[in-house]
Amino acid sequence: MAESPLDLHFSCSDLNREVAPGHDFYEFVNGGWCRANPIPEDYSRWGTFLALDRKNQEQLRGLLEEAMAKGDAPPGSPAQLVGDWYAAALDEVAIETAGWQPVRPLLQAIGRVDSVSGLGALCAGLQAAGIQPFFELGVQQDARDSQRVIGVLYQGGLGLPEREYYLDPEPFFENARGAYLRFLVRLLELWRGPEAGHEQLATEVIGFERELALVSMTPAEQRDPHAIYHPSTVAALVSEVPEFSWHELFSAHRLPAEFPLNLAQPTFFKRMGRLVVETKPHVLKAYLSLRLLSAASPMLSSPWVENHFTLLQALTGAKKLQPRWLRITRALDPWIGFALGQLYVGRYFSASSRERTQRIFENIRAIFRDRIQHLSWMSPPTRQRALEKLDRMTTRIGYPDRFRDYEGLVIDRHSYWGNVVRAASHALAYDLAKIGQAPDPEEWFMTPQTVNAYYHPSRNEMVFPAGILQPPFFDPEMPEAYNYGAIGAVIGHEMTHGFDDQGRKYDASGNLVDWWTGEDELGFRDRIGRLREQLAGVRIPGGHHLNPELLMGEFIADIGGVNLAFEAMQRAGAGAGFSGFSEEQLFFLAFAHLWAGNIREDAQRLLLATDPHPPSVVRVNQTLKNIPAFGQAFALGGDEPLYPDCPVDPWGRGPAEVA
Ligand SMILES: [Zn+2]
Repeated sequence: MAESPLDLHFSCSDLNREVAPGHDFYEFVNGGWCRANPIPEDYSRWGTFLALDRKNQEQLRGLLEEAMAKGDAPPGSPAQLVGDWYAAALDEVAIETAGWQPVRPLLQAIGRVDSVSGLGALCAGLQAAGIQPFFELGVQQDARDSQRVIGVLYQGGLGLPEREYYLDPEPFFENARGAYLRFLVRLLELWRGPEAGHEQLATEVIGFERELALVSMTPAEQRDPHAIYHPSTVAALVSEVPEFSWHELFSAHRLPAEFPLNLAQPTFFKRMGRLVVETKPHVLKAYLSLRLLSAASPMLSSPWVENHFTLLQALTGAKKLQPRWLRITRALDPWIGFALGQLYVGRYFSASSRERTQRIFENIRAIFRDRIQHLSWMSPPTRQRALEKLDRMTTRIGYPDRFRDYEGLVIDRHSYWGNVVRAASHALAYDLAKIGQAPDPEEWFMTPQTVNAYYHPSRNEMVFPAGILQPPFFDPEMPEAYNYGAIGAVIGHEMTHGFDDQGRKYDASGNLVDWWTGEDELGFRDRIGRLREQLAGVRIPGGHHLNPELLMGEFIADIGGVNLAFEAMQRAGAGAGFSGFSEEQLFFLAFAHLWAGNIREDAQRLLLATDPHPPSVVRVNQTLKNIPAFGQAFALGGDEPLYPDCPVDPWGRGPAEVA
């Protein structure tokens, strides 16, 4: 752990004053912090974001321990659910004694399937336990009719993080495949004992996954909402992918015989259908068993946990397994996270941070409105629709007005795996029951304790959980300029997502409807093209290139967010600086400090392949090269690398757009 992980307030000792701000602002602001905060052995990266997350996890741990000690909370109450979950997950004696026995029934079910036609019902059983082989079944708001929830079938089924990990001949990916092979062989050993044929079988399973990877869309391709929207029906699915027993799958989930669904990647599913009939049955069964064992490993006895960690280590560079309390606290989040969140906000969230965040939000929206009104390149009809979208954007701050209840879910102190399966089954049934309904406006897609925020294009809504509304993102003790640079930039970022290269394709009601005139679209694309060139020219430490198509939405949001928040700060007349820095300078210090951190090389490669966010140094330096106010605040000379010589902000007051 870092020296004082709980002190997340900004301080001038975080700086590295030996570096000029205009040369490398990321290092100038964060150099001191990064040196004082090396990556803990059980993390693959470490930064202000994760330090705050760690602080939250420790608070959650306290709540879980209290709930566990209480022992007499009413059945189904948040304290009973999370307290019993925690108790079962901490019960190492029971977990070690059970070995892999908890997953025996599901392994037996896989063993019993003797034809492809049995796969549908089998997959339903696995899905209900939280394991999604071949593909993912879920729900979404219909992209063209946001007031209706439909089913969605999405590509999936891979054990490695992305298709590149199967297909790229580079040594880095070759090594990852080697580690994955060893992981699978070890799973087979732990399950069936040592046998000569394990390596051959595991190789065949990877070969099967490789076939799925070949027809999987890349993360960048999936950013185009049109490319992953293919409205369909059960009847059409059955005729297009006849090899898979869809009716058995859906009826096992008690879905009606016909319902609307989105077949997100038709090419993937057609190939997957053929693959299940072409692949030898023993390979398919091994694939299903290994998906199950892999997913269950973290909840089983120590040899399984260690094997799972060995793979994680190879993929991320982490050197040590995280302590049990931390692993199980994190693992709870997707299943009963709102029960824990209810306890968390009751203890740790203050209403005043909600009010102040709301005020900053409205000030930023007023600036965005003003900018749209003055965009010189946009015609009146498109401008009108952009304004309507902005005005109808909603925001939720802190925690949901109505907490989700987990009615009918049984969590006990007897079996960690049993709890996970019941919670997963409850969660999937809860989701699938929404098909055909209007979306619940009170639903959140992140728990309140999460250190993050999101914009949801189908809802035209932004959510800022309580977990992020504290230092370094929001600090009531700092001058307001700090908060505009930190949480203000985050709010501006999420707001801009509604208008980035992806978000702009949805209208004010959250429908995927083209509201742009052809000429306005060209104007927007021209600006995106210039940003693409910028990203294509960037090299990060290690010499890696970036993938502009993957990063574009986040890059646009970062630039827009900083510009909006800065102007909102100016208009609010925040006033005070900090420790010799002016108010304007403090704003940029606060922004850059959000991204302070260190990362291991393997984890960096993993993020480059999967994460739509640019690396931290790019989020600071390349963003600021597009912010004229940054150059002014630090009086940069035209010859300094970060001088904003050709700033681009698709929604901003660029040089040509200054009135
Ligand atoms: Zn974002």
